[in-house]
Amino acid sequence: MTETLINLYDLSDAELSALMAELNQPAFRAKQLAEWLYKHKVATFEAMTNLPKPLRETLAARARIGGFVQVAEQHSAESATTKRLYRLPDAQLIESVLMEYEDGRRTACISTQAGCAMGCVFCATGQMGFARHLSAGEIVEQAIHFARLLEGEGERLSNVVLMGMGEPLLNFDNVVTALSIMLDDHAYGLSRRRVTVSTSGIVPAMDRLRQRMPVALAVSLHAPDDALRDELVPINRKYPLSELMAACRRYVEDAPRDFITFEYVMLDGVNDQPEHARALIALTREVPCKFNLIPFNPFPDSGFRCSPPERVRAFANILQGAGLITTTRKTRGADIDAACGQLAGRVQDRTRRVLRRMELAGAGSPA
Ligand code: SAH
Ligand code: SF4
Repeated sequence: MTETLINLYDLSDAELSALMAELNQPAFRAKQLAEWLYKHKVATFEAMTNLPKPLRETLAARARIGGFVQVAEQHSAESATTKRLYRLPDAQLIESVLMEYEDGRRTACISTQAGCAMGCVFCATGQMGFARHLSAGEIVEQAIHFARLLEGEGERLSNVVLMGMGEPLLNFDNVVTALSIMLDDHAYGLSRRRVTVSTSGIVPAMDRLRQRMPVALAVSLHAPDDALRDELVPINRKYPLSELMAACRRYVEDAPRDFITFEYVMLDGVNDQPEHARALIALTREVPCKFNLIPFNPFPDSGFRCSPPERVRAFANILQGAGLITTTRKTRGADIDAACGQLAGRVQDRTRRVLRRMELAGAGSPA
């Protein structure tokens, strides 16, 4: 039944207006509806008390307000991290994570796809294959659920990062609609600087994002040269580093922040040597950027180990010595498998996963 109902979270501002027009409603009703959905975050039509009763009934017959079933929630007091597992109407499972920082930031890390087709060899999501894109509403709803949770505690969701499961830029249209809803003043109202898209480097889509919806951008770099990056992040074979760096330079011109964040997962003995750091300095010379080193989060059978802390520090020092602002991500939520790359809500596409494994085995493992 739910499949035939319109998910209101899927609709952009313009589409909500079109729906109200179709129902012969005055224009201001779209704004009222958006306020109920995103400002008050109500879960039922009955709660929308300033909409006429017949309109509420019509909406209830034609539309739904999201559609997640929360299957599990894990909370780690130690790292102030909450992970939630949701079941979608078609039984796919996805995960999102809320991180609460001491400086007051409340950041939702949300998924954009069930699974991921990119096959990065150090990533749990990448190892399970791709099931499907999430709709715009399914992306937005993850943020809404955490915002409701926080508001119940007198807090507010301040940041959203598209760093959960999936490659956001391969689900471009839905991601852009979701971003527009989260940024829209009538709706959610997050600032562009506080919403970050993280990509493995889909070069043409980076240009499209810059033109359509320039939000903060993080790029998963992970290697300073094409030979190594080809192995770790297979999409590099299609969009090599020279193209990626050029796309980053173009992006910065329109970005709400004047730098790109490069994410770099620290893999013991693979990409964590002083010469890798020096090569990164040369590679990124012409890109205004900051580095975020991510200690590798292990998962079963990954074949990788995290670099020891002193090596991570030495790596950071080399980058910093060249004037590159470098932070090392504190691993959050590792105790509940909510850390980067550990999100592995099961997907149904097992065939794909097996194929992927065979392909990687053929390509040779870098570990
Ligand atoms: N698909 C997007 C966003 C999601 S992944 C991307 O790749 O950018 C978010 C970040 O976590 C990426 O930088 C990703 O490379 C990193 N990551 C993936 N697996 C990891 C792991 N096991 N340990 C640490 N970081 C990981
Ligand atoms: Fe996909 Fe990102 Fe994982 Fe690569 S690191 S497999 S792009 S989720």
